[in-house]
Order: sequence, then C-alpha cells, then structure tokens
Amino acid sequence: MKIVRLILGDQLNQNHSWFSSVNDDITYVMAEMKQETDYVKHHIQKVTAFFLAMRSFKEDLSAKGHNFMYYQLDDKNNPQNLEQIISNTIAETNAEKFEYQLPDEYRLDQQLQQICNSLDIAHDYYDSEHFYTTRYELKDFYTGKKQMVMESFYRMMRKKHDIMVQNDQPEGGKWNYDQSNRNKWKGQPPIPKEKEFIKNVEEIIELLKNANVQTIGKIDSESFAWPVTREECLSTLDYFCKQLLPHFGDYQDAMHDDEKFLFHSRLSFAMNAKILSPKEVIDAVLNHFYDKTTNINISQVEGFIRQILGWREYMRGIYWKEMPEYKELNTLNNTNKLPDFFWSGNTKMNCLKKAIGQSLDASYAHHIQRLMVIGNFSLLTQIDPDEVDKWYLGVYIDAIEWVEITNTRGMSQFADDGIVATKPYVSSANYINKMSNYCGNCHYSHTKKIGEKACPFNSLYWNFLSEKREHFKDNQRMNMMMALLNKMDGNKLAEIQERAAHIIENLDTI
Ligand SMILES: Cc1cc2nc3c(=O)[nH]c(=O)nc-3n(C[C@H](O)[C@H](O)[C@H](O)COP(=O)(O)OP(=O)(O)OC[C@H]3O[C@@H](n4cnc5c(N)ncnc54)[C@H](O)[C@@H]3O)c2cc1C
Ligand code: SF4
Repeated sequence: MKIVRLILGDQLNQNHSWFSSVNDDITYVMAEMKQETDYVKHHIQKVTAFFLAMRSFKEDLSAKGHNFMYYQLDDKNNPQNLEQIISNTIAETNAEKFEYQLPDEYRLDQQLQQICNSLDIAHDYYDSEHFYTTRYELKDFYTGKKQMVMESFYRMMRKKHDIMVQNDQPEGGKWNYDQSNRNKWKGQPPIPKEKEFIKNVEEIIELLKNANVQTIGKIDSESFAWPVTREECLSTLDYFCKQLLPHFGDYQDAMHDDEKFLFHSRLSFAMNAKILSPKEVIDAVLNHFYDKTTNINISQVEGFIRQILGWREYMRGIYWKEMPEYKELNTLNNTNKLPDFFWSGNTKMNCLKKAIGQSLDASYAHHIQRLMVIGNFSLLTQIDPDEVDKWYLGVYIDAIEWVEITNTRGMSQFADDGIVATKPYVSSANYINKMSNYCGNCHYSHTKKIGEKACPFNSLYWNFLSEKREHFKDNQRMNMMMALLNKMDGNKLAEIQERAAHIIENLDTI
C-alpha cells in the first residue's frame, strides 16, 4: 500500500520507529511553509535554525534510503499551506493512506484533524515517540487530586522511570536540591566558551527576504552558531556533560552582564525540534554522574534532571489539559501594551537592556532572565498577556506554543490564576541584585523606591501588590508580602504608587 507520511518541522526524531526499516511504498513529506513562518513574527535565527535542522534531517534519512518529498520555501510548486501540501503529495504519489505523528501544538492538531476529515483515503496517526509522558498522562495523574504541584508529578516521574531512586527513595536523601541552586556568579569558576558550529546562512536569509517573511532580531549571515544537525546536537550534549554540568546547579539562577549562557546547556532547541530526546539527554547526564572519574555533585545533576523530567513534561501535560481555554486566560485583567524597547533593548534599566538585548542578538535568554527580569517587568507593568505571549513565542529559538505559553502566560504572568505557579513570580530590585551584577552597572539605584533615580522595579512591585491586593488576599503564599504591604505607611505607599504610575505611563522613556 502506498503511504504518505507527514513530518512537521519540530518532529525531527531520527529514532522514530517509522525509520526502523526502509519501505519504497512510503513517501515522507516535509515543507518549509509561509503558514509556519508567518503565524507569529519569529526571530530570524529561529526560522533559520528550523530550516537548517529540517534539511539536515531529510539529508540524513534520504542517505539511509527513505523516500522524501521536500518543499523548500521558494519551490514554485510549494502551496505554502499544510492542507494543499498533503493533498498534492497524495495525488503525486497515488497514495492510499495518509499518516502523521501527533503534533504538540493545539493549532496544528486541530488543522490535521480537519484535513483528515476531508480526505477520501484512509488515515492514521502515531505518537511522536519523544516525551516520557503521553499527552494526557498529567491530566490523569491529577484527576481527583485537590492541588496540582510540579513536585508531586516530578517524584512520580522519578519513581516511574527509575531515575536516581533506590528502594522508592531519592538517591542522596533529597528529592530536590533547589535550595543549593541559588549562587551568584562572581567571575569564578571560569565559564567554558559555548560550543559553536559556525555556518554561512546567506542563502536562507536571502530566501526569507525574497519570500517577504517578516522577522525580528539579528543574525550574522557568516557565523550562525546554533547546533542544528543530529551530530551537532549530540556533540553539544557531550560538551554540556563534560564542561558545564559540574557547575550547572550551583549557578542555574545566576545572571551576569558579560555572560549569556553561563553553565546552561543550550539544548532546548535540539529537544523541542526532537533532534534529541529527553531520555537520551538524561541518560547521558546520568552516565557522566555515575562514571566515578567525573566526581559531579548530585545537586548539579538533580537540578538539571528536574528541568527536563519535571518541568518540561509538566508544562506539556498542563498544555494538553488546559487548552484551548488556556490561551484566553487573563485573570489579573492586565491590558497595557509592551514598550518599544522590547524590540530594540534600548532602555536605561540595565537588567532589561541586557536580557532583552541578548534575546534579540542570540534568540536566547536563560530561565531566570525570562522569568525574573523580562517576565517580572511585564507582570509588574501589567502588560496584556496576549502581547507578552506573542513576544516570547517569536523571540526565542526554542519557543513552541506548548512550552512557551505555559511558561509565559502561566508561570511568569500568573494569567492562569495559579494553574502553573502557586504565587506570582514578582520581585523588587533586591532579587535581581542578589543574583546578578546588573545593578552595579545601572543608571538606576537598586536601593531607592522613589525619585528619578529609583529602580523602577521597586515602586512597580509595591504598586502591583497594592493594586492586586483583593485578588491575592486569600493566597497563603502571599501572606508575608501582603503583611509587609499592610504595614507600610500610607503616605509612603501613595508616593510609591505615584512613581509607579509615572513609570507605567512613560514606559518608553525609562
Ligand atoms: C517566561 C518563560 C518563557 C519560556 N519559554 C520557553 C520556550 O518557549 N521554550 C522552552 O523550551 N523553554 C521555555 N522556557 C523555559 C526555559 O527558560 C528554557 O527552556 C531554557 O532557558 C532553555 O535554555 P537551555 O536549554 O540552556 O536550558 P537549561 O537551563 O540548560 O535547562 C535544561 C533544559 O531543561 C528544560 N527546561 C528548563 N526549564 C524549563 C521550563 N520551565 N519549562 C520547560 N522546560 C524547561 C529545557 O528543555 C532546557 O533545555 C521559558 C521560561 C520562562 C520563564
Ligand atoms: S537597578 Fe533596577 S533596573 Fe537597574 S539593573 Fe538593578 S534591578 Fe534592573
């Protein structure tokens, strides 16, 4: 039977059972499409990375004998949308059956169901064989339970997959070493230079220009450095285990003016495009940990595994449990617009200048920059979560809706009223100063609350708590913050709120 099998741009799993043997009756179809380049304005490095990764995937599997039909963005016969690409390929190959892997995005899932309903040949779908969990495993796990907290899911996952567990107990005696993952980086230990895979990408840039694809951010056409092939991604994983893992946990939350990546792995694109599976990443890390010559502390390893086995799977489960309603949530009724400096980095606030600047330069910021600098600022200035989501979905190389929206709208903007996080991640300048050297090089003073030189975070923080007081009055995790707010002198609070109002009205000038 002749079969057409679709592979989406984030389904680059070479170890999928589809490829275990070559079958001449099967044609795999892949396409660079305007439908995907245009649903949000992406960072130019993100589009480039996806196209390069897709092309390399097709090359690797064609070399093993699999049949491919690959539509480049500028191919004359590329209809630029999924429905027609599928019907054209079916017609050209006289296929009697259409098959696809379950997409991770709700939008594409809906579209594929509609396409299948209109086909007059048989169709079927397969798991993408990437995640540890199935789509609805988290939903089933929490059915009948009062509260969803990541920690209980994470412990279940550790036990279920037998990862650092002995006799049902955590190896080392603790499930979670989060408390020891909070060091500031002060220049030592030295940070190994990031592993780069320099490529000339002029052709892709020209392709995007000719197709009138609108993008954001910068790219150096002669030295695109992200890992995009299977070989490069495996090499990045190996480099991470040998060079960066020994200090990953210690400096996981640290930020620094001159260091974009610190000890972070930069593996999110490789995993989200499914070039690497979470299991092979975790297995590689565990192999290094158990190799007695490496002497890596358990807190580094647990800190890393928690992100992938815990948070990453958790966010995907929440996405499928809560969509499509999740996309509309705006519990705090925030309606402000993002300031222009989100597209230029041009602000006097040094932490934002650095975090936004590097997002535009490299399509990357690490978790704490996304959460406690950019996200914190967006929430405190009460930006519409639709605006925030659109920016995050566009700017980061790893941004795919299932993991972007749960982190942004949920964890960072609290627009879901606590489905992901039990309290909003907001802070004054104190936290940023504790975890970085940003404040030392800033126009503003991190200790002042009012006056022209006062750090905007300080007044915005108390203003936010005061304005949302009613909303958080029953949230026990906010009790301490609310008690401090309630103790504050009324005149002082009024002055702080005046300063905050001035900042919010003049976001483009701060
Ligand atoms: C507001 C906000 C938006 C985010 N948007 C995205 C996104 O669009 N895509 C994305 O992959 N991650 C997102 N994250 C999570 C995290 O910031 C990135 O996964 C991480 O910065 C990627 O860099 P890295 O590979 O060097 O990560 P490392 O710090 O080396 O961590 C290792 C891996 O753990 C996983 N991970 C860590 N934290 C999370 C998390 N909270 N949720 C899911 N996986 C996690 C990632 O796969 C990451 O590659 C977001 C976080 C926040 C706060
Ligand atoms: S003083 Fe405020 S604006 Fe400046 S870097 Fe520190 S936290 Fe950011």
